[in-house]
Amino acid sequence: MTMTPNSSTQPKTDLLALTLPQLQQWLKERGEAPFRAKQLFNWLYRQLENDFSAMSNLPLSLRERLAEEACIGPTIIRSELHSKDDRTRKILLELSDGKLVESVLMLYPPIGDSSSRATVCVSSQAGCAYGCTFCATGQMGFDRHLSAGEIVAQVLFFARELRKEPWTAAGLPGTAAIDHITNIVLMGMGEPLHNYTNVLQALRILNSSDGFNLGARHMTVSTVGLVPAIRKLSQENLQVNLAISLHAPTDELRSQTMPVNRKYPLSELMAACKDYIASTRRQVTFEYVLLSGVNDTMEYGQKLAELLAPLKQFAHVNCIPVNVTTASYQTPGPDAIRAFRNILFEHGISNSVRAERGDDIAAACGQLRTRFENSRKKTELPVVTP
Ligand code: SAH
Ligand code: SF4
Repeated sequence: MTMTPNSSTQPKTDLLALTLPQLQQWLKERGEAPFRAKQLFNWLYRQLENDFSAMSNLPLSLRERLAEEACIGPTIIRSELHSKDDRTRKILLELSDGKLVESVLMLYPPIGDSSSRATVCVSSQAGCAYGCTFCATGQMGFDRHLSAGEIVAQVLFFARELRKEPWTAAGLPGTAAIDHITNIVLMGMGEPLHNYTNVLQALRILNSSDGFNLGARHMTVSTVGLVPAIRKLSQENLQVNLAISLHAPTDELRSQTMPVNRKYPLSELMAACKDYIASTRRQVTFEYVLLSGVNDTMEYGQKLAELLAPLKQFAHVNCIPVNVTTASYQTPGPDAIRAFRNILFEHGISNSVRAERGDDIAAACGQLRTRFENSRKKTELPVVTP
């Protein structure tokens, strides 16, 4: 539970960090009726209200008490950027201790029979301890875990924005506007399985049918490959999607770009994925950042196909042309990407390529904070409070 100091130095409770039973308990401890918890949940997650005084069916005394003793997540937005096509929006959220994290909203127009999607890419930590060489967050080092409330708040920020102003894809008149979040992916700053307890708590809060009611199948946890945590997740009975940041098919190459591989080498990681599939019967996505001339050669494509072959139809590869954050790496051209994917197709490995988006707003995780912190050294940006 996150505590933030208030004027009377008594720490405030962040309500976004509490499940419904925990909120009931919290009210009970204060002599309030536990049934108020459902009303509060409704205000927080259905009405998307962030002002206690507007919660009209709560007694005035309770509203005043809540304003005194509780808060509704962090609310200071240090910077908000929209891409030129407005399909990618990125915020820099300031936490109570001044740490900065990034969250991104990605809007997708309808394709075929499927309707529009609004996906929030959520941060789970300030910084990251794993130091992958192509990742801007990895280069910052680790600051701290985010609380469940700080994770939930990122989703609610964009949910409120879309509720206020639903989005329709430009050039697609007549298509229904989208006014709610359809998916969340834990692919922002940080390693979600390093912050296992708070991440699971946030997912359960967002999943609650009394509140935000986002289906677990619409949530994706992306991990650098923390083997014990992957094994634990398989036992949670939560239907979330698992994505593994693979990025190399041999230990030698993977250890060069992803130091975590020295601790959890590919044999252990693949065994954990195999067991995960056996116990959940769910497909696993393998993310593969394409680094031109480093891991996208025909030889590595072949090795990747061989590595994943035993998982059969339960493996899907998502090829991600690297978003350049350091001079050391380059994005492959379209021909190289096509050739790499063809090798996978030839071996019957299902795969897709992530469309680049939001390049004009520094969309790769960690880039905005890095840019912001560099610019802050020169001038302070204005604070925007919703
Ligand atoms: N720590 C988790 C989740 C956050 S990173 C993980 O590593 O999976 C989310 C995804 O973005 C990961 O697949 C990561 O490898 C990828 N990524 C990191 N830096 C990138 C970059 N510069 N370009 C493209 N993808 C990047
Ligand atoms: Fe951390 Fe993921 Fe970036 Fe690696 S890719 S440094 S695990 S955030």
